[in-house]
Amino acid sequence: MADKRDYYEVLGLRKGASDDEIKKAYRNLAKKYHPDLNPDDPKSAEAKFKEVNEANDVLSDPEKRKRYDQFGHAGVDPSYGGGGGGGFGGFGGFGGFDGGIDLGDIFDSLFGGNGRRGANPNAPRQGGDISMSLNLDFMEACKGLKREVDVSRHEVCDVCNGSGAKPGTAPKTCSECNGNGKIHYQQRSMFGMIQNTKTCPNCGGRGKIIEQGCSGCAGHGRVQKKRKIPVNIPAGIDDGQILSVRGEGNVGANGGGKGDLNIRINVKRDPLFERNGFDVNCEVPLTYAQAALGAEVEVPTIDGPVKLTVPEGTQPDTVFRLKGKGVRHLKREGRGDELVKVVIEVPKNLTKSQKDLLRRLDGELTSKNFAKRESFFEKLKKAFG
Ligand SMILES: [Zn+2]
Ligand SMILES: [Zn+2]
Repeated sequence: MADKRDYYEVLGLRKGASDDEIKKAYRNLAKKYHPDLNPDDPKSAEAKFKEVNEANDVLSDPEKRKRYDQFGHAGVDPSYGGGGGGGFGGFGGFGGFDGGIDLGDIFDSLFGGNGRRGANPNAPRQGGDISMSLNLDFMEACKGLKREVDVSRHEVCDVCNGSGAKPGTAPKTCSECNGNGKIHYQQRSMFGMIQNTKTCPNCGGRGKIIEQGCSGCAGHGRVQKKRKIPVNIPAGIDDGQILSVRGEGNVGANGGGKGDLNIRINVKRDPLFERNGFDVNCEVPLTYAQAALGAEVEVPTIDGPVKLTVPEGTQPDTVFRLKGKGVRHLKREGRGDELVKVVIEVPKNLTKSQKDLLRRLDGELTSKNFAKRESFFEKLKKAFG
């Protein structure tokens, strides 16, 4: 910062220059050095442009100019000569500045910002993803299926192939902005006159003018189309998972790539089965007699009913594992298991004769028939003598 040029020198003025002379000099130089108007050497133009703006900032402000005249750079830039910081100390705070001017634009102008202004409106942009959800039955999710889903998406207009121009014609470069999509203009601000940019009103920022628009897309180059997209839903997909179909989303602007179609899977609850990873849980009711005597019972699986042999003396809530009767794994071979829990139902609403039969049976049963009961009374005896 120590080699900072004199502000009057920067604007090509003598020390006692009038306000009007300063204004005029700044306007001419800001235009001359605006980086966007110096495509051959934007870097050095940008440096000069900053210098000019800084000089104008100080000299167009009577208070700052007075301090500068008295103390030089140190009078308006606290970091000057301090060896650090530097830059636009003279700009000070923006407090109380609530004019209608976009500060972002001012900074873009002053610093040659590469934010919004730098974005080329004609650059290809990646198309957006499309999200949707799909409801499946339990069985559909277990077994997988092919399904067509309805999608409304942006596609390249097939009348103009995306150019937006009527077939046989071509878009022309906008003469107002020379295809940049942006226009530079002067604006008065608290910093004096500054160079600013705005979206070219002639072409709407596209840099191109379509004289005869394509009738298929009204000049947009893309059209909204309804499509039926075939989707392969793999066996084993589960509730809440997202199936991504690459490249079936929206096509991007200016020839950009296609987004994806993301399908969230909702699986309806099933009255018989409950999924636990790739295993399937199922409850099967047994009568008291079936549990005591043993039985062959029919249990449901996702492949249809199968026979399960319940051995004599099966206790309540015993779980039987049916190997390989669960859901197909998504990423490897094989299937989970089905876990069948037997639930013993105690009979209700017994008639008098049924009760008599049960009482007779109960009278016949001995401690040998009830292992748990026997050991319970043993423990009780030990505990209380
Ligand atoms: Zn078209
Ligand atoms: Zn334009």
